[in-house]
Amino acid sequence: MTVIRLKFIISYVLFKLFHPVQGCDKMGSSLEEVIGKIFPKEQYSFDPAILYAYSSDVSQFEQLPRVVVRPTDKEQVVKVVKYAAGEKIPLVARGNGSGAAGGAVPVKGCILVDFTLMNQVLEVNLTNHMVRVQPGIVHADLNNYLKKDKVLFPVVPGSSEMATIGGMIGNNASGLKAVKYGTTKDWVVDLQVVFPDGEMTWLTRPVRKSATGLDLVRLMVGSEGTLGLVVEALLRIAPIPPHRRIMQASFKNLEDLGKCVSALFQHGLIPSAMEVLDRSAIDAIHLYKEAVNLSPDAAAVLLLEEEGDELGYIQFRLQKFQQVCQENGAYNLHISQSEKENTQLWEARSLVGASSSLVKPGYNRIYVGEDITVPIDRLVEMFKKLRDLAKSYTLPIIVFGHIGDGNIHPAITVRKREPADLALAEKLQDEIHHAALALGGSVSGEHGVGLARKRYLPEERGYAIEIMRKIKQAIDPNNILNPSKIY
Ligand SMILES: Cc1cc2nc3c(=O)[nH]c(=O)nc-3n(C[C@H](O)[C@H](O)[C@H](O)COP(=O)(O)OP(=O)(O)OC[C@H]3O[C@@H](n4cnc5c(N)ncnc54)[C@H](O)[C@@H]3O)c2cc1C
Repeated sequence: MTVIRLKFIISYVLFKLFHPVQGCDKMGSSLEEVIGKIFPKEQYSFDPAILYAYSSDVSQFEQLPRVVVRPTDKEQVVKVVKYAAGEKIPLVARGNGSGAAGGAVPVKGCILVDFTLMNQVLEVNLTNHMVRVQPGIVHADLNNYLKKDKVLFPVVPGSSEMATIGGMIGNNASGLKAVKYGTTKDWVVDLQVVFPDGEMTWLTRPVRKSATGLDLVRLMVGSEGTLGLVVEALLRIAPIPPHRRIMQASFKNLEDLGKCVSALFQHGLIPSAMEVLDRSAIDAIHLYKEAVNLSPDAAAVLLLEEEGDELGYIQFRLQKFQQVCQENGAYNLHISQSEKENTQLWEARSLVGASSSLVKPGYNRIYVGEDITVPIDRLVEMFKKLRDLAKSYTLPIIVFGHIGDGNIHPAITVRKREPADLALAEKLQDEIHHAALALGGSVSGEHGVGLARKRYLPEERGYAIEIMRKIKQAIDPNNILNPSKIY
């Protein structure tokens, strides 16, 4: 620890030596002085050890920021943006740093804006079915707050206990329930944004629909902090369905499971959640929590959740699911019998990303090539490709994901100190991404572009990336907001 601290003190001193001008405003005040005027001292830090703690998210990228600031209100955000705009100092927004693409990783010399102290629910309006929040509130905290009113923000990432609403907006996050509820963009009504020139504004009106001009809210969602800093969000909420049941179906291989998913869609049978776990994902879960009731021998398991007001209707629907699954190679069908079992299954599913590192001793998960999406009718081909890749590469790949959205998370595990493994993982992610693109898919279903997937965007989006660059240039001509990400 002392060595690491020393390393960063040295890099910080060197950084200061070689960047003496940036950060002094036109009046000659240093960055330290200006930040000290905007924020009380407990809300910012130049301490290299603290900066180190903020130097990465869960991706492979890292960079020290120049300073970390932790605003408690939007006026502080406006002030720091105005200062940065005047001095052309880069600004990077950060929620909890659980992003997997490097979106919240600092850029060289930046002011890192940590939003986690702006974490309040400001208003719940049950008639409008909306909640107004600050961006730093953690998803699980928001839903715990809303529970007493029997409502929820229904976009549920596996990282619910970590992801902030600002980070979810930044990445257009989604997760377990996207097959029914869609993604973050479908649940954001309005945003209050501080733009790169320091102007703060709401983007539309607090209504359920509006047809007045361009949809700037949707433009902001998924823009990864490159167009503006979100300081308040007005979100739609949904009633919590009182009942749910989860059906578990085993398959002999992933391809059969993929065919079954296509068949369910063809029958118009779309549940509230639809998840896939391959054998190693099931093993990973069992290694982490032995008690979880998942098939001991299946090559792959499909989890289907159905929710609603009437248990009888849920059971009726699940019978239909059961029939189609059985006709398409499923065996060992099991329907959960209690809320305890439901919670246990979803908790286990949420842990699979982290428990992937338990599958092979010495091998740990790295977030590369981990978030592809393909059309539902190309799932079988994608699973075949993953099987072939797993054979030709020696690295363990654990497959799970939100299969109802065609969103697969192949978790690659490596020996992190083996350069050969890292080089192999790099090649493997390339193959995974190109395979998804060749099938008409996308390199990210929900984790975003950041630094990790930037190089694939021209191939995925073609001329549309030029349009994105023009929008970025128009809104942020000095390129101070999260420069070098996405475009
Ligand atoms: C174990 C695990 C499971 C996960 N499961 C899922 C999942 O099921 N679904 C899913 O979608 N993701 C998942 N993720 C990825 C991640 O949790 C999400 O992307 C999440 O939304 C990031 O939230 P955060 O608060 O950590 O944001 P950060 O990582 O801090 O930031 C994400 C992006 O948002 C920007 N940003 C943050 N706050 C603001 C703001 N106020 N204004 C403007 N821009 C801002 C940042 O600059 C950055 O570009 C998972 C990650 C892990 C580690």
